[in-house]
Amino acid sequence: MAATVTLFGCQLSKPNYESVMDYPVKSGSVQEVTYSPASTQFSLWSPNADSVQLSIYESAESTAPICRQWLKRQKDGSWQALVKGDLLGQFYAFRVWDPLLQYEQEETPGIFATAVGVNGRRGAIIDMRSTDPEGWSSDCRPAMSRVANAVIYELHHRDYSIDPSSGVEHRGKFLALTEHGTLSPQGLATGIDHLKQMGVTHVQILPSYDYGSIDETRLADNRYNWGYDPINYNVPEGSYSTDPYDPASRIREFKQMVQSLHKAGIRVILDVVYNHTYDVAHSNFTQTAPGYFYRTREDGSLGNASGCGNETASERPMVRKFMLESVRWWVEEYHIDGFRFDLMAIHDIPTMNAIRQMLDEIDPTILLYGEGWAAETPLIEESLRPIKANIAAMPGIGAFSDELRDALRGPFYDDHQGAFLAGLPGNEQSIRFGIVGAIEHPQVDMTKVNYSQQPWALQPTQMISYVSCHDDMMLTDRLRASVKPEGSRKSKVESQKTICDDELMRLDMLAQTVVLTSQGLPFLWNGEELMRDKKGVHNSYCSPDSINAIDWNLKARNLRLCDYYAGLIALRKAHPAFRLVDAELVRRHLEFIDTPECTVAFRLKDNAGGDAWKDIVVIANAKREAVKVELPDDEPYTAVVANGVVNAEGLFRCEKTAVVAPQSAMILHK
Ligand code: CA
Repeated sequence: MAATVTLFGCQLSKPNYESVMDYPVKSGSVQEVTYSPASTQFSLWSPNADSVQLSIYESAESTAPICRQWLKRQKDGSWQALVKGDLLGQFYAFRVWDPLLQYEQEETPGIFATAVGVNGRRGAIIDMRSTDPEGWSSDCRPAMSRVANAVIYELHHRDYSIDPSSGVEHRGKFLALTEHGTLSPQGLATGIDHLKQMGVTHVQILPSYDYGSIDETRLADNRYNWGYDPINYNVPEGSYSTDPYDPASRIREFKQMVQSLHKAGIRVILDVVYNHTYDVAHSNFTQTAPGYFYRTREDGSLGNASGCGNETASERPMVRKFMLESVRWWVEEYHIDGFRFDLMAIHDIPTMNAIRQMLDEIDPTILLYGEGWAAETPLIEESLRPIKANIAAMPGIGAFSDELRDALRGPFYDDHQGAFLAGLPGNEQSIRFGIVGAIEHPQVDMTKVNYSQQPWALQPTQMISYVSCHDDMMLTDRLRASVKPEGSRKSKVESQKTICDDELMRLDMLAQTVVLTSQGLPFLWNGEELMRDKKGVHNSYCSPDSINAIDWNLKARNLRLCDYYAGLIALRKAHPAFRLVDAELVRRHLEFIDTPECTVAFRLKDNAGGDAWKDIVVIANAKREAVKVELPDDEPYTAVVANGVVNAEGLFRCEKTAVVAPQSAMILHK
């Protein structure tokens, strides 16, 4: 039986839903506001509401509205109102009366606000075209024939430029990446020029949508957060703008950043966190359709696969529709070139595949990858989870390889436990697994691979190859914590001594040589190339700048390391053998060479991928002594990487054997 609601002149009756699963899907766009100078149309999805009210305000913080208006129920579960007159520059919020709401009822800008006031509490009515920087209509993503060419650099706005040594004017802001000619105190390039120098093809920016943990009205407090606490998914974060009170400022400055990176030949990947919200009681999801957007257990308690108190339900049609439209919004309005899905395993495979399909229709080179794990077990059956083991059911979608990461540096759960880089045997097969890009390969013994019993990637480009990211320690800290100084019989914890900077640098170079010669997509965390540390802090998500900020003085001190990274990236870009795209080609051309424990060596043979070099040999030696490796066949090889130096023109010649210096990598070709 349906109760007829006649209040406020609305004649459409409220349907009786047995559960939130019966809610209809909103027709047309999920967006709530359509502005024109003559009138503004509002449309909020809230199927179970008894009534919905709209308030228009002069500012984001004013207490009394200019006007209030009741919305009318529609058949698709949405509520609509047309407000005549020009609302440009004004703010709005909805208030929903829903009997399922177990929390205090609050104002909400809706779930798909595209412009907001300070702290994102009210929506803003703006003309999106007025936020376009000059030349925006001709902005386009830098050319890239195939995703295998990607070299990804993860960056936090505040880490990257907040320290005065960055020489940047707009420190910690989106605009920092629009400034050219910025220099460290020693006169070395910082900011966007440094990214160009490094040669990376993509930057992956940590959450840059509007998040909740930084109070935008108190920016002088200089608080820091990674931003994994979404409030408004479709608006840039205010604390990274020069004026969070002006709704257009964050939007325009974000676009200026994208435009500037694009002009520098660098694509932009957004870190998206659809898997959970900042909290549940105050979230826009709860305040519009309580109970719908989150998974719950049978007893009604919230799922917590995110480890943050809630998990969203991507398998429900309106959540899926929301995610699809949100991704499309960032691509079309902000020209974003790729997406990194936080805790992707919380979502569901059909949703991820639908996103891939939508992106393919726009541009197949838009990257899509994520974390193939969750913090706790998601409340969705395992066969539907986008976990690493199910990646084969998601062509064109990638996942991070913890196999390679932990085989190099040691396990996630113990910062003091080392692995290959610490000179410990037993990690060789896991490193092989990472080098081939997590695909099936006859010379990878899966019984000896650390976490996976089966290869999980269909194609090597589905594996993200890395040794560190924003999570956990910097590589430098990790090596200090896990590698015993030479001659020390005590464990690291007991001795309190750490390895010297020279050894640190050697191991850093060795680690990234494996990453940058892997057939997966290589991924670097900002500041590793400068040998930055985080003073040993593991989870620095809200640590102060003194822990997280990059000190650009390090660049002069560790220029050799920086040059090494740049040299390897250039080598990778110049040689298709390192990015073969197709699993079959990897199996045909990549051949491992048997070498002693604590070393891994392979050959890319027969002009792999059309490479100008006939054969390339890569040797990684984690021992504290030199190793001698027999080279395949008798012709002489030319070394292009040895002992921490990259020179594509050639360093020296090797016949029959190569002697690889302690804790270093060698790359040779003929
Ligand atoms: Ca915010």
